[in-house]
Amino acid sequence: MQEIILCKLGEVVLKGLNRRSFEMKLMSNIRRRTQRFGKFKVYSRQSTIYVEPVGECDVTGAYEACKQIFGIIAIARALPCEKRIMAIFDTARTYLGDALRAAKSFKVESKRADKTFPLGSIQLSQQIGGMLNEAFPNVKVDVHNPELTVYIEIREDAAYIHGPAESAAGGLPIGMGGQAVSLLSGGIDSPVSSYMMAKRGVQLEMIHFASPPYTSQMARDKVLQLAKELTPWCGRLTVYIIPFTEIQEEIRRNCPEDHFTLIMRRFMMRLADRLAKELHCKALVTGECLGQVASQTMQALRVSEDVTDLPVLRPLIGMDKEEIVRVARHIGTFDTSILPYEDCCTVFTPRHPKTKPVVEEVREMEQALDIEGLIDRAMAAREMVKVRM
Ligand code: ATP
Ligand code: MG
Repeated sequence: MQEIILCKLGEVVLKGLNRRSFEMKLMSNIRRRTQRFGKFKVYSRQSTIYVEPVGECDVTGAYEACKQIFGIIAIARALPCEKRIMAIFDTARTYLGDALRAAKSFKVESKRADKTFPLGSIQLSQQIGGMLNEAFPNVKVDVHNPELTVYIEIREDAAYIHGPAESAAGGLPIGMGGQAVSLLSGGIDSPVSSYMMAKRGVQLEMIHFASPPYTSQMARDKVLQLAKELTPWCGRLTVYIIPFTEIQEEIRRNCPEDHFTLIMRRFMMRLADRLAKELHCKALVTGECLGQVASQTMQALRVSEDVTDLPVLRPLIGMDKEEIVRVARHIGTFDTSILPYEDCCTVFTPRHPKTKPVVEEVREMEQALDIEGLIDRAMAAREMVKVRM
């Protein structure tokens, strides 16, 4: 028999009446993400989702993919066998042989979903535990604090043997948390903020502002590469690339230098707001963090979110840079983020940026700009790039 994958549901099980829809969403996400590894049957029983290969499959590939699917808190590979004592013992002995040889102590834990199985779960654990202990004299039985636990699940169709589960991505299945537009730059922060909202079940649409020729093709490719690196967590992504050159040049020509960055950020928010409304998204996501740069003081955040009535989600707001870097490394975006290409934010940066701006004053300064015309032209010239794994 072929190995299967057992996915333990996380917070999903706490959702009461919604639980079924959470499970359905998670199963459809698992089906979509595992399909490139072969054909799998995906079904749920008692807070576990079973991912079972049908014919030739890359089970290792599917297992690794499942570790990045939000909604799964722990994951294990298991080997099914016939529901007979000798078959169960043989399977445990060979399948978990390396682990049993390496461990100092172990116990067997059994679950019996099939109540017609002749032994109770305690009896079964004792019997298999005794047999394994004889086969592996190096390892002691310790039911209180074992180094290794051998799990046996007796189900209708078969017995399943597995070792300890590994922890998985946690969070909520993507799609359960609504849809949002995430502002993706080439920096360290915004891939992390995108990951964090996806972890709460939010389906993301990505928006990126590019200012050629001030920003290069390499900077643009870097952002698409970051989006690609996010797909194992966030699922397929669409990146909307918005030309930002005209807006930046107009701001430089018409507005006071110490307000450049702030006014530019208000345009980013306006464009993201416009896209969100077109795509029926209910929030914006940014990688802003309190006090990290001049445009991220409380007053500056107030000024930038003044132009949208959507909630601006800033999951990094209270994190230190080191914590953000740790997450960036964990999700695999850090090395790409630190490639040294210009972002539009680093073009035309004021020498003395305003850190305590006043909304009314900024609105006044923007009177010099054709806001609607600039937004319309930028939106009309946008590019849409679909990013897959
Ligand atoms: P990051 O590391 O994510 O670039 P940062 O610390 O450099 O962030 P800013 O450059 O002020 O901070 O940007 C704050 C947030 O604004 C970013 O996290 C991102 O969400 C958004 N942002 C900045 N530049 C762009 C851009 N060119 N395209 C899309 N979003 C952007
Ligand atoms: Mg940046």
